[in-house]
Amino acid sequence: DRPIDRDQRAGLKAIRDFLRIRNCYDVLPLSFRLIELDVGLTVKESLNILVQCGIVSAPLWDSSTSTYAGLLTVNDYLNVVRYYNLHADKLKDVDKLLLSDLKDVEKVLDVKPPETVSASPEAILYDALRQQLVSRARRIPLVSYDSDTQRTMVTSVITQYRILKFIAMNVKETEVLRKPLAMIKLGTYGNIVRCTMDTTVLDVVDEMVLKNISSVPVVTTEGILLNVFEAVDVIGILKTGDYGNLTWTVGKVLSARSPNHPGIYCCSLEDGLDTIFETIKRSRVHRLMIVDDNNYLKGILSLSDILHYLLVEGQEETNPT
Ligand code: ATP
Repeated sequence: DRPIDRDQRAGLKAIRDFLRIRNCYDVLPLSFRLIELDVGLTVKESLNILVQCGIVSAPLWDSSTSTYAGLLTVNDYLNVVRYYNLHADKLKDVDKLLLSDLKDVEKVLDVKPPETVSASPEAILYDALRQQLVSRARRIPLVSYDSDTQRTMVTSVITQYRILKFIAMNVKETEVLRKPLAMIKLGTYGNIVRCTMDTTVLDVVDEMVLKNISSVPVVTTEGILLNVFEAVDVIGILKTGDYGNLTWTVGKVLSARSPNHPGIYCCSLEDGLDTIFETIKRSRVHRLMIVDDNNYLKGILSLSDILHYLLVEGQEETNPT
């Protein structure tokens, strides 16, 4: 039984009440752009576009049927990496690989096809998030149906960060979520997948796909946190077009990161969600590394961990079904 005091309960209730009176559309800024990629593009072209636009995911469009064809994410590129690692003989064809071929890559690798959860822009935010939690999808494409043309259309894609930032900006009761992480047992503490500066990219990619995680902390042999290798780092490696670079070590990849890389975010076991929401308000956080005073890695707090807690914690008691 996790202790939740009255403040914590009130904070969670305020957030849930807020999410119940907002729809997905409300999360979007007044003005935004949407980059959709045609499935007829090559994987190589898609990488260039993502890098040029500074994005890491995009909805796919099938122009032969004029329909939305799923979400392209960094996971697709991880699959491509694994595919060519297993079938090096086919590497010469890598430049010809089309986005529409990614389904075949999944089949060969025997991985689950990506989660296809989507929501209508008018859907109640709370409902859309609950649906997302069940599916483990990390982004929700907002897909609407145009009755005039009888076609589906993607309005935008909402990320976990955008939702948390929306909460941080609009629900002042996030301030009362003061219970320390250690007390509410939020985050992952056991069996953390880690690597060292000498681990190869290929090994880290395998771990990420196998464990379905999007980052691996880089630690010293003593367990001191040095950095975090992210799935999106793979995009930077692949855009060079040289798949040989995948034998690079993590250390080499990290030192080749752009000087504009925002770095990593850490917190301690004594921090509460109140301070974490402050961080989310100020910066584009992808996840937080939980460290002690000596920078020893204790755990990982992912955005999905936070969202899960906000939506589900204590529900069984307050809302028996
Ligand atoms: P994203 O980071 O893309 O928003 P996410 O929030 O689902 O996705 P993941 O990194 O995929 O985060 O984490 C999924 C679950 O696995 C979370 O419960 C998280 O605490 C845990 N986790 C994340 N990274 C690791 C790791 N390196 N080792 C062990 N568990 C991890």
